[in-house]
Amino acid sequence: MNVFKFGGASIKDANGVKNLAAILNEYSKTYPVVVISAMGKTTNALEDVIDNYLYHTSALEASIQVVLDYHNTIISELFLDSEDSIFIAIASIINDLKMFLKTNASTDYNFVYDQIIGYGELLSTTIVSRYLNVLGIQNKWLDVRKYIHTDASYRRANVNWEQTVKDISTLQQHKIIYLTQGFLGANGNCTTTLGREGSDYTAAIFAYALNAKSVTIWKDVPGVLNADPRYFKDAQLLEQLSYSEAIELAFYGASVIHPKTLQPLHQKDITLFVKSFLNPLSKGTKINSDPGLVPAIPCYIVKKNQVLIQISSLDFSYIVEENISDIFNILHRFKMKVDLIQNSAISFSVCVEDVFNNLKHVLEHFSVTYNVTYIPKVTLYTVRHYNSNAINSITKNKNILLQQRTLDTLQIVTK
Ligand code: ADP
Ligand code: ASP
Ligand code: MG
Repeated sequence: MNVFKFGGASIKDANGVKNLAAILNEYSKTYPVVVISAMGKTTNALEDVIDNYLYHTSALEASIQVVLDYHNTIISELFLDSEDSIFIAIASIINDLKMFLKTNASTDYNFVYDQIIGYGELLSTTIVSRYLNVLGIQNKWLDVRKYIHTDASYRRANVNWEQTVKDISTLQQHKIIYLTQGFLGANGNCTTTLGREGSDYTAAIFAYALNAKSVTIWKDVPGVLNADPRYFKDAQLLEQLSYSEAIELAFYGASVIHPKTLQPLHQKDITLFVKSFLNPLSKGTKINSDPGLVPAIPCYIVKKNQVLIQISSLDFSYIVEENISDIFNILHRFKMKVDLIQNSAISFSVCVEDVFNNLKHVLEHFSVTYNVTYIPKVTLYTVRHYNSNAINSITKNKNILLQQRTLDTLQIVTK
């Protein structure tokens, strides 16, 4: 049994959905579980809806219409029968969203965010499931919120593995394609999410619970490359990787794989394939437990929009364990993702990602005890398996704010 995951880029328009159907048609008799994200940039469009709603702007109605129009354009191209039930189904999902906006009384940003953002996946899976069924690729649509159970950490929920595995296991050995939403989970009756780009992780959760043989994530790139082709020309395909190498690349920010995806797969030795939905017959990248699979070429990773925070003692005293513990407590409390740390006798620097918009609070807390300065919008470059050429090319013409090297990893923070 295999799990497939299709991301937003693969279904950004009607042709994308047709292409997905062609790929699934090839594999339909293996009855994969299919996990699907929101179409194209729908999640970003829903983030606009959330902000318009919570900040009471006049653009709310228009921002919902953008989401509806986008999906209507796609279904008009996919379904030639204008009486098809999909047209009512999509209108009804949007009505549910409007009903939530009308009746919701919560002002908790993260809670409201998750209740609204999940509509992207509900829309996409409803469309794709119906389209496949019309084509004769029989599938059953599942509400993932009945299977993936989480705690109430909205926007970065933690999976309750016991309950989740128990419920997903009930799907075993059915001769049908199951099709469901990535990214979402539930805490009781409330929708939760696993973090932006979390659908890869959903695929891994299903694979783990079903003891799948493999997971394939279908991407707009030939596989895992040694660099993000958006920033580096001549990026090369890495045909094979070990779990540990892949987890390092994902951790440092190679956004082609969500960093949480590898752990459940590694635990059950489930192979991960990263393949191109544009060229489905090409091999892509195979990731498994073979420890010998270290890339022979340097791998470059870019993380933009980081914040470099520099902390030093007020009275020239050492920054000791107690201070470091204090600093990390605050970073943890405000859900800052720490990507690099460096310390000296009287100073401590961290490069963080402020996913939850908490920088202001963190700085306020730090400034009670320390001198604190920060530089926003810095870029963190990481090079795994660097050599002198790689160092030269990555540091050339850059204003380097911080640099760190281990045996196999070089990191620089630049402005
Ligand atoms: P999805 O459609 O599943 O959401 P993503 O956009 O999250 O797909 O991931 C694919 C993108 O990841 C590629 O378009 C590419 O720009 C980016 N990417 C970043 N690092 C790498 C890498 N090392 N190899 C391949 N792609 C990468
Ligand atoms: N749709 C969600 C996002 O854009 C989840 C995903 O695509 O993996 O973050
Ligand atoms: Mg994505």
